[in-house]
Amino acid sequence: MSLFSGPVFEMASKQFHLIADHLEIPQDERDRLLMPKRAIAVSCPIHMDNGRTAVFQGYRVQHHLTLGPAKGGTRFSPSVDIGEIAALAIWMSWKCALADLPYGGGKGGIAVDPLALSKRELENLSRRYMQEMIPFVGPRTDVMAPDLGTNEQVMAWFMDTYSMYQGVTVPEIVTGKPVGSGGTLGRREATGHGVAFLSFKAMERLAIDPTNATAIVQGFGNVGSHAALGLAQRGVKVVGVSDHTIAYYDPKGFDVRAAIDHVARHGVLKGFADAANIDATALLTQPCDVLAPCAIERVIDEDIAHGLNCRILAEGANGPTTPEADRVLAMRNTEIFVIPDILCNAGGVIVSYFEWVQDLQQYFWSKDEVMDRLERALDRSWNQVVERARQDGIANRTAAMAIGVERVRKAKLARGLFP
Ligand code: NAD
Repeated sequence: MSLFSGPVFEMASKQFHLIADHLEIPQDERDRLLMPKRAIAVSCPIHMDNGRTAVFQGYRVQHHLTLGPAKGGTRFSPSVDIGEIAALAIWMSWKCALADLPYGGGKGGIAVDPLALSKRELENLSRRYMQEMIPFVGPRTDVMAPDLGTNEQVMAWFMDTYSMYQGVTVPEIVTGKPVGSGGTLGRREATGHGVAFLSFKAMERLAIDPTNATAIVQGFGNVGSHAALGLAQRGVKVVGVSDHTIAYYDPKGFDVRAAIDHVARHGVLKGFADAANIDATALLTQPCDVLAPCAIERVIDEDIAHGLNCRILAEGANGPTTPEADRVLAMRNTEIFVIPDILCNAGGVIVSYFEWVQDLQQYFWSKDEVMDRLERALDRSWNQVVERARQDGIANRTAAMAIGVERVRKAKLARGLFP
């Protein structure tokens, strides 16, 4: 038992120990690599529109600071707890190291349903959370970003709150800000673009013609909608989409732009194509070339893994596949090519890094430059992962995590233990 005990932390821990066994990391190094450096819990009281005061629990976990500041998103979701946030921070560490970014992993969140708040309540809560975090974050300590339930507007409020306390504008305190407030071109679509880009790499490897291919995308927020759009733009037929309100499947395919417009107008997918309604779990096992889970953790369990009917599993979400499902996928590795989360959704943190660099230098790049550098960075990580998997005869997830864990371990060993 630890402070972090819970199903998501157990999953991150189990994955780490499998990699540590594979890399033959001695037992007495393992806790130092796995256990978070800092965990902060805060209570955020805010005035509600009805005149009452409500208190929300907020968290931030900094997994390690060995390679630079902690870096990671902030999640507003009712299920947030310290164990989930710690697991997500750990995954961020391996992801940043795999992409060769000078960051440790961080993650934060508030246990709240943001859709149940008015805009003013959401602003109050965002500002209060950042205000509570000021002693613990900073451009060289911990840099936040958007995640599930947060967006550019929330990042702008975070940045403004931090800046008001410093007395100067500090855009480099968060990434994923609006362009025009220190944000970078390309950040909004970066994660989904990366999911699509790597899906095309996998298609090329499996000799799948995108114009004859189909895709199913679970989750239609920032990551899912841009992944679907990126796939559709190169001719892939998107035959399934879902969000937390509804799931749709139609072998004839959906107009992704129209779905995005619908969500922009109504906030949710529901009402977009009700004739194509399907059970949300059944959607995941429908036939397709690319299945892209882009919503939440642990949606692909052992049973669903047996039932998957895709050629490529492109993990846009963090931690969508349980270790039990991974064992099934290992047996099905000639049928299903897995692009593991820490590779597949790394586009977001890579462009966040570009945003931080631009903010620090106060020198901004063109969109073409951002996207070109993003694709080159993803290409590099892709080549390293597939080559390592081939060389060692291991699964892509094992290869990706092994590279990430090895890099963090090497940096810790080189720096030694203080004092
Ligand atoms: P978001 O809040 O913009 O969108 C989340 C989407 O998932 C919404 O459409 C929501 O309705 C849907 N959803 C929630 N629960 C669902 C369920 N049970 N079934 C189906 N759909 C469900 O969030 P996002 O930023 O797109 O993040 C999605 C995932 O991608 C998360 O796992 C996040 O950690 C990961 N991720 C995000 C980024 C980023 O840049 N935003 C980067 C890397 C990884």
